[in-house]
Amino acid sequence: MSILVYIENVEGALKKSAFESLSYGKAVGDLTGEKVTALSIGNVSQEELNKVGQYGVEKVIEVNSSDLGQFVNQAYASVIAEVAKSIDAQTVILSNSFSGKGLAPRIAAKLGAALADGAISLPTISGSIWQIQKSVFSNKAIATEELQEQKKVIALTPNSLEATESAVPVAIEKYEPQVAAADLSTVIKDIVRATDKVSLPEADIVVSAGRGLKGPENWAMVEELADVLGAATACSKPVSDAGWRPHAEHVGQTGLAVTPNLYIAIGISGAIQHLAGVSASKTIVVINKDPEAPFFKVADYGIVGDAFEVVPQLIEALKAYKN
Ligand code: FAD
Repeated sequence: MSILVYIENVEGALKKSAFESLSYGKAVGDLTGEKVTALSIGNVSQEELNKVGQYGVEKVIEVNSSDLGQFVNQAYASVIAEVAKSIDAQTVILSNSFSGKGLAPRIAAKLGAALADGAISLPTISGSIWQIQKSVFSNKAIATEELQEQKKVIALTPNSLEATESAVPVAIEKYEPQVAAADLSTVIKDIVRATDKVSLPEADIVVSAGRGLKGPENWAMVEELADVLGAATACSKPVSDAGWRPHAEHVGQTGLAVTPNLYIAIGISGAIQHLAGVSASKTIVVINKDPEAPFFKVADYGIVGDAFEVVPQLIEALKAYKN
């Protein structure tokens, strides 16, 4: 029996969430005494695949067929389930990323496995019964889910656990899957990148701004702050509704839920629907001119002041600190 960790890549580069999943898989393996194998699908260089050794995982199965060059949910789910069966993996671990959210239930159904999606903790293991925590009700509560099936699929919330490093040599094994034509019924014609900047769901730091910025012409300072910090940019719903920023940046109950290590909110009131998507951030910094703004109640650090004065000073201070 073993553990299979699916490691996602973007254009050949393994994602940060892949390293988190590997560390998590290694930690689960330490608990169960099982070997951990990574699975990569797509065109990823040997040098890149060798990085799995930095997270204590000694073997990677590489699937690099022309049919699977682009992510296709059904096909990738079938391949992951097929590989899991071929190595007798009782547990499959992946990130609860955009693609992971689509993959995890499919893999669980194919394997007849119990599913914990959005996991935020290591399992508490009692024989074949595992208990795992996950955030529920827009991060307002933590539920403990009990996985009773022998087989398990765990989709780990990005940024919920640190990737821990340890170095071991890596063996890479190629695998040719049987991809059914029906699994390739979705054809990706083209991928258009919305931005070259840091991806919002994966970002360690997010700089987000709201209606307090008055208009789209004032976003230059938000982008500059994000650049200095190596952060992704986000916004409140009214901002994207007004077309000041793209909808892809909208965070909250009806937008993306993010879990960065640092969330900086500028000119955002902190309405409950906004907080629903950001309150699981590790550290929250709020910049708002209204000391009564509800966002301050959930902030770790608050700056009461005019964003147009505070943000430029913050940028200058960070630049000076970096030099
Ligand atoms: P405002 O509420 O107008 O707040 C602007 C803030 O900027 C104020 O606190 C003000 O003090 C401050 N400010 C003004 N000028 C300055 C300045 N110069 N310097 C510093 N601060 C300044 N909202 C979301 O964000 N995400 C969602 O997913 C979402 N989903 C929703 C779903 C439903 C069903 C509903 C009903 C609403 C939803 N909303 C959502 C909207 C939400 O209720 C709020 O209306 C919205 O979050 C407010 O956006 P805001 O904070 O940018 O604007």
